[in-house]
Amino acid sequence: MLKVVKFGGTSLASATQFRKVGEIIRGDKNRRFVVASAPGKRFSSDIKVTDLLLSCYRLVREGESFEEPFGQICDRFREIIKELGIDFSLEKDFAAFHERIRKGASEAYIASRGEHFNSRILAAYLGYPFVESAEAILFDEKGRLLEEETNERLGAKLSQYSCAVLPGFYGATEFGDIRIFSRGGSDITGSLVARAVKADIYENWTDVSGLLMADPRIVENPRSMEVVTYRELRELSYMGASVLHEDAIFPVRREGIPINIRNTDEPDHIGTMIVERADKSVGIVTGIAGKKGFGAIYIEKSMMNNELGFGRRVLSVLEEKGISFEHFPSGIDTMTVVVDRAALFGHENELIHALQKAVQPDHIHLVEDLCLIAVVGRGMMGNPGTAARLFTGLAKENINIRMIDQGSSELNIIVALEEKDYEKAIRAIYEAFADQV
Ligand code: ADP
Ligand code: ASP
Ligand code: MG
Repeated sequence: MLKVVKFGGTSLASATQFRKVGEIIRGDKNRRFVVASAPGKRFSSDIKVTDLLLSCYRLVREGESFEEPFGQICDRFREIIKELGIDFSLEKDFAAFHERIRKGASEAYIASRGEHFNSRILAAYLGYPFVESAEAILFDEKGRLLEEETNERLGAKLSQYSCAVLPGFYGATEFGDIRIFSRGGSDITGSLVARAVKADIYENWTDVSGLLMADPRIVENPRSMEVVTYRELRELSYMGASVLHEDAIFPVRREGIPINIRNTDEPDHIGTMIVERADKSVGIVTGIAGKKGFGAIYIEKSMMNNELGFGRRVLSVLEEKGISFEHFPSGIDTMTVVVDRAALFGHENELIHALQKAVQPDHIHLVEDLCLIAVVGRGMMGNPGTAARLFTGLAKENINIRMIDQGSSELNIIVALEEKDYEKAIRAIYEAFADQV
């Protein structure tokens, strides 16, 4: 039995948290490969080390002093080392790092040091070897992960160890230039390591007892889900259930390695198991997730459904402008394209003109204040009451639905709403399904 364990930022935010992590690892001899994040928040107004590092980068770029965040970063590590009482020092590394920042180190290099230093402390604390992710996790020059090469290199490297600590979040190009994943990317590192060592399970330790039915920052005390499928998790994490990075699913899924989301503060809780297939009997809805920040292009033209190639022409315009779309529902004479709002910014008029030219609509307008909410569940398939429950829940709260899209897999229903209704809608939908069996 071999387990890969990844600990997130809050799990490694202080010496107290390090001790809990130590107990969890020592509590099971199968927990042999450990992936660590940078120190996260210790309390709600605290600042994550990764954010402090990014501030250093911005300040140097603007020609300003970065001493303040830099000092805070070093102090956070110093405090952890001191309180753990280990014979280990990073002082020389801090001095060299300071010099590199001053000389214009890249953003990725600077951001990666949170994981780098924290993993070295954890390795020293556990008495495990430290393995440098930059030597095994490979990116191309554009910052895209080279997954197969990584799998080979990482597998070969780790086969020389019976246990190790690796830093999450980063790797390097073949020339040794550091590249990072997007935020939350240590989850991906954990998944890559699990695949490379052919682990039996990938344990992802965080600060909640598994995947919850809704965002706990919006719904008070949401239910946690015991078993979720990779596909459900993919839908939920893509739609904003930020407990696991959306790209962390692929490497382990390929090998059929289950993910177990666990809580460092409640280690006896079984958390959520993420698997390929699960039975349908748990309830209709597995989870509710959503995101703000969408816009939509509404296009009206009578008889558009008879016009061959209408949809294609609309999408070609978007493609030319480099805008990808999220949803594309249509009626008889109407079509809506939901897109990330950031992609519209500054290009609104240009886009409208291009669409007018391409499809000569009777009417076209943009809205820029939408959010999307997905209701996801393998139990929804063939269960006729789901949509009714969802819409009744929203109607009770007087929330207007701007668009509805049911995925062809029947695994999800997505609604677009006005952004101002976001939190209220999540709560209303949760209430509508909270009593499900
Ligand atoms: P880590 O630092 O351990 O990687 P993250 O902050 O990335 O942890 O992810 C855990 C957080 O995800 C939780 O504290 C919670 O606030 C948030 N979250 C959002 N949606 C959900 C959900 N559906 N279930 C569980 N947690 C969620
Ligand atoms: N430390 C990085 C971040 O804050 C990566 C991670 O925690 O997964 O995004
Ligand atoms: Mg995370």
